[in-house]
Amino acid sequence: MLTPNLTVSPEGHLLINGADTVALAKQHGTPLYVMDEDMIRESCRGYNDVLRDEYAGKGLICYASKAFSCKEIYRIVDSEGLGADCISDGEMYTALSAGMPAEKIVLHGNSKTDTELRMAVEKGIGRIVCDNLSELARLNAIAGEMGRQPKVLLRVKPGIDAHTHEFVQTGKIDSKFGFALETGEALAAVEAASAYENLNLAGLHCHIGSQILETEPFAAAARVMLGFMAEIREKLGLTLPELNLGGGPGIRYTEEDDPKPFGEIVRAILGAVKATCAECSFPEPYVLFEPGRSIVGGAGLTLYTVMAKKTIPNIRTYVLVDGGMCDNPRYALYQSRYEALIANRADQPRSETVTVGGKCCESGDLIGEHMPLQPAEDGDILAVLATGAYNYSMAMNYNRNPRAEVVMVKNGEARTVVRRESYEDLVRNDL
Ligand SMILES: *Cc1c(COP(=O)(O)O)cnc(C)c1O
Repeated sequence: MLTPNLTVSPEGHLLINGADTVALAKQHGTPLYVMDEDMIRESCRGYNDVLRDEYAGKGLICYASKAFSCKEIYRIVDSEGLGADCISDGEMYTALSAGMPAEKIVLHGNSKTDTELRMAVEKGIGRIVCDNLSELARLNAIAGEMGRQPKVLLRVKPGIDAHTHEFVQTGKIDSKFGFALETGEALAAVEAASAYENLNLAGLHCHIGSQILETEPFAAAARVMLGFMAEIREKLGLTLPELNLGGGPGIRYTEEDDPKPFGEIVRAILGAVKATCAECSFPEPYVLFEPGRSIVGGAGLTLYTVMAKKTIPNIRTYVLVDGGMCDNPRYALYQSRYEALIANRADQPRSETVTVGGKCCESGDLIGEHMPLQPAEDGDILAVLATGAYNYSMAMNYNRNPRAEVVMVKNGEARTVVRRESYEDLVRNDL
């Protein structure tokens, strides 16, 4: 199985963390997101362990909540000692209403509104990662009005090519995120930010991309960033105390994927941080990491009911399910690959190759193509694996499909953490 928490019962049912997925589908309906809370907590601890062992715990792991955001996930990661990385007023609001302490939240965004900046300053959000000069000017004015001095980091493009899908590559110069290093833009931004009297410039941030399988791009980015911090000290006489190295460690989506475990990645990054600091005689900064996918991705799966099967001779076989791009738009967005299996016959070989199609009025509404699968029959429960990240958080109401329920499994027991949307929810804002 793709992850060790997935097993098969004697009757051939797929279990996640001991919970029977076929029973969950019957009880809660489909489509259904199922998340393994114990696995999420284990990943949180894994990150904190490396930070403690390799860096004396001098830093903070902020869960990148865009991967999966609802109140319960903020409670879980908070209780494991993590902070949260938010990208909008909506994520901040959800985190704060779940009780996540404001000082452990990092606010991101390349196009933050005044409402978002005001909320961040008013609530005492711990760090605001500024992306551009307009934002710095607006934030300085808002902070001045409120008599506050928020802590600011600047997002820098370290120019690392992380060999991943083009759409999720953000560290290169042609990116809408952050200040470019090579052009001198970043240095000018540091100078500008440090001159604003209502901003407390504490450090830098970079995020080189997502679903990165190797350690080297991360270590390279850390070296570039620390080199730049040393340059800032030399040219501006400013020693910045914090460095946020973003997220990005990849997970196993298919049997062929072989990502470096995140522990190895963080160890390599911290090794590069320490080595570069020693070389430049630069004080080791307080570090932040923002993992999203590697905390929740492998911990989730989605259950569907097979509604029909359509074989087009010599072309392909479609297995059609009661969900699709509304609950998982990732294939439609960037041809992401997933493993699937028939949850009620998980002990049988996956002897067919099929295309899994969704229920939306779009030909591109697919969960995947060329997917090995047990011979599917109407009424079967289809499980799509490793859907814990960027699925529920990207869900939408196209065709007025209500968004699916999310259940969390702990010690084999499932509980609902996000209710299924009702028809009433769908028309709630209609006048
Ligand atoms: C998306 C994102 C993350 C999380 O990335 P993962 O690949 O899910 O770990 C972290 N930081 C920033 C700024 C991001 O945009």
